[in-house]
Amino acid sequence: MKFFNTMGRAVEEFNPINPAEVGLYTCGPTVYNFAHIGNFRAYLFEDILKRSLEYNGYKVKHVMNLTDVDDKTIRDSQAAKIPLNDFTAKYKKAFFEDLDKLRIERADVYPEATTHIPEMIRTIQTLIEKGYAYQSDDKCVYFSIDKFPEYGKLAKIDRENQRAGVRINTDEYAKDSVADFALWKAWDEKDGDVKWDSPWGEGRPGWHIECSAMSMKYLGKTFDIHTGGVDNMFPHHEDEIAQSESANGCRFVNYWLHCEHLTIDKKKMSKSLGNFYTLRDLEAKGYTGREVRWVLIGTHYRAKLNFSIGALDAARAALAKFDTLFARLKAAPAGDALLAEATAAAAAGKADFTAAVSEDLNISKALSALFVLVKTAGRLLAEGVQASGAKVLLDQFRDFDRVFGALDVDVEKKEEAPAVDAPAEVLELVAARTEAKKAKDFAKADAIRDQLKEMGWSVVDKPTGPVPVKL
Ligand code: AMP
Ligand code: ZN
Repeated sequence: MKFFNTMGRAVEEFNPINPAEVGLYTCGPTVYNFAHIGNFRAYLFEDILKRSLEYNGYKVKHVMNLTDVDDKTIRDSQAAKIPLNDFTAKYKKAFFEDLDKLRIERADVYPEATTHIPEMIRTIQTLIEKGYAYQSDDKCVYFSIDKFPEYGKLAKIDRENQRAGVRINTDEYAKDSVADFALWKAWDEKDGDVKWDSPWGEGRPGWHIECSAMSMKYLGKTFDIHTGGVDNMFPHHEDEIAQSESANGCRFVNYWLHCEHLTIDKKKMSKSLGNFYTLRDLEAKGYTGREVRWVLIGTHYRAKLNFSIGALDAARAALAKFDTLFARLKAAPAGDALLAEATAAAAAGKADFTAAVSEDLNISKALSALFVLVKTAGRLLAEGVQASGAKVLLDQFRDFDRVFGALDVDVEKKEEAPAVDAPAEVLELVAARTEAKKAKDFAKADAIRDQLKEMGWSVVDKPTGPVPVKL
């Protein structure tokens, strides 16, 4: 396999440290809110990466951290007047529910920051002992970037312009504020009762040290692949590299993979801009996790993907076509007609698909292998392919789905569109409109649609029936 390694900005052959088990670390969510589909684009890219490794015969040990203590979780749990752990528990649960709906394979371990404080303290101690970190007057412990000459090698930071001696104790900052960053943050009133004892007084860890300490615990000092969204590159991953390589004296990660942003109207989807959808928002509009997955995996991970609701409708139509094709193949009559043709098409499809996913996860080529086989299957059905040929084709679609995770060759009953919470009068009008349409009284049906619109609702006709959608 080949991957684009952000470290060298080049496509490189993948050579795992231990081919029997690839180590994969993916930065996980900060559990202070529902993750939005921009975040899920990153997690779905990682899912496609992991599934593609598995498709190529690798066993993967996958670790994803859960950031359950940081500036944002503390701020929002206090605003909600809920203890930190109870507050984050709600969003952890929601995160796992969303992962399942999006059919993302579970990681092997989801270490939480709050249950790994001793590991982080030990790493910070090592950094102080080795002279890479110091406690400053404000009682916080900082990493001294001057001690690590390679600082900036991932994000390609111009070291000449770094401001020596400047310190920063917020977790997120821009490239123009490169500075010594906090490893341990001394307690202050804003933290309330969120604090742990340490050799440097009460406080809490910085965000970056979390991933260094936890990746080392579960994957070792050097491991194969580390991923995240492009915005994680700086400062988060740069700081992880500085901490881990200084503490351990060896290379931290062999392959860095970063996915581009999901945008909306060409702007990054983000909580701070408020231009986001959660999976729940889209479910409330009647879309399924399967459809959201299909949209988010369909663009190569290193290209920006501009999201629109229209793309979900296109995904629904595409997936419905596959469903119909699979049903027709399953209904093929017994016999061997066109078996040789089906076998040749499946083998060619598999070869193209394997080459595609191995080439830095080339999803467009993988989709094209799928569409070519869909087309051929349609032709063979028209020409009278019988059950044994149809089975070969169905098996190949099942095989593709090990990576896509959305084809549903064997799902007889399709996922229902999620129930929509609409007031009784809206539901009654929707039912009345359906009746009017059945009676071919389209004028009445349209009048009801207008009435619903005035009430702030529209009706979307789904395969499962009409669904009211809030405007
Ligand atoms: P955060 O909770 O902000 O740390 O983000 C979690 C993950 O989602 C990180 O890997 C981010 O890089 C990624 N991410 C955040 N916003 C987007 C976006 N609009 N598109 C793609 N990935 C994103
Ligand atoms: Zn991380």
